[in-house]
Amino acid sequence: MAQSKDVKQSGKTYSKRITYLRRMILGTVAAACLIPICICIILAIRYDRLKSEYEQNRADLDWYRNRFGTEMEILGEGAANAGTVQAIGGLETEEIPASGDITEIESDYASQITSGAQDPEDIQGTRYVYLTFDDGPSSSTEEILDILNKYDVKATFFVCGKPDSRYTDLYKRIVDEGHTLGMHSYSHKYSTIYESLESFKADLDKLRIFLYETTGVWAKYYRFPGGSSNTVSQVDMKELVDYLNDGEITFFDWNVSAGDATTGATKSTIVGNVVNNVPRFKHCIVLLHDAADKKSTVEALPEIIEAIQGMDDTVIVPITDDTLPVQHIKY
Ligand code: ZN
Repeated sequence: MAQSKDVKQSGKTYSKRITYLRRMILGTVAAACLIPICICIILAIRYDRLKSEYEQNRADLDWYRNRFGTEMEILGEGAANAGTVQAIGGLETEEIPASGDITEIESDYASQITSGAQDPEDIQGTRYVYLTFDDGPSSSTEEILDILNKYDVKATFFVCGKPDSRYTDLYKRIVDEGHTLGMHSYSHKYSTIYESLESFKADLDKLRIFLYETTGVWAKYYRFPGGSSNTVSQVDMKELVDYLNDGEITFFDWNVSAGDATTGATKSTIVGNVVNNVPRFKHCIVLLHDAADKKSTVEALPEIIEAIQGMDDTVIVPITDDTLPVQHIKY
């Protein structure tokens, strides 16, 4: 009896082992099949994301290179009169050979010395700082918006016309998150925009309607590509300003430049250009760029915001109807 009990028990143990082994084998086979499938799915998703990011960056850069080649933002001698700002000392304006059909002039406006009503000694009450981003939307817009959101800061975006659907949500996000949507020409092609009053009108109207159809905003602030003091316009800038006035559009230049349009501008240079110059003005309109190849601007932005927020009686606000415009040319 005892012997048959032992046999029964060892038979049970044996069959348990077999079941266990069977489960092990099945589990291993299932894992061997599922793990590669999961890895494939994850990789496929990542590949897809990277591909669309790459395509967006590529399209962005192509748009940018088409218009600027290596450099951008023109600034002519007229910049000496910047709204209420009186600039003294010579402007360092350097002419760069035309790239494609665009004439570009590099300038170092941030290095200019200013005095008068904008002297820090004369500043009483709150200092208003307006962060403005030109040339977007781009593959940097999302990051810029995330940073602004993190610091609860509202800015102003002077955008161009980019009908590609990948930008649609960015225009909307700018508006939905409370930033000001300004205009910076549809094409950003100096040769077209500044060819005649008619071509300027056509470009401006196209952008205004495009932005209205995309966001529902009837934009009313403008930044001339290259600034109002650009020296490439074939048309008297007064005529263009008159046209803006007719459409109840206010144009804004800048009195603080981040210098991020300069090739190779580093994060620390950009931070320095902004942070060292903001204390000189009561109303600071800061020129920055929202572009695929301006990653240093994105890197510099948190430090810029933290530094400005750390200044006494200083606020960062978006451009509104109450903003005192800084204009390089005055009529
Ligand atoms: Zn621009």
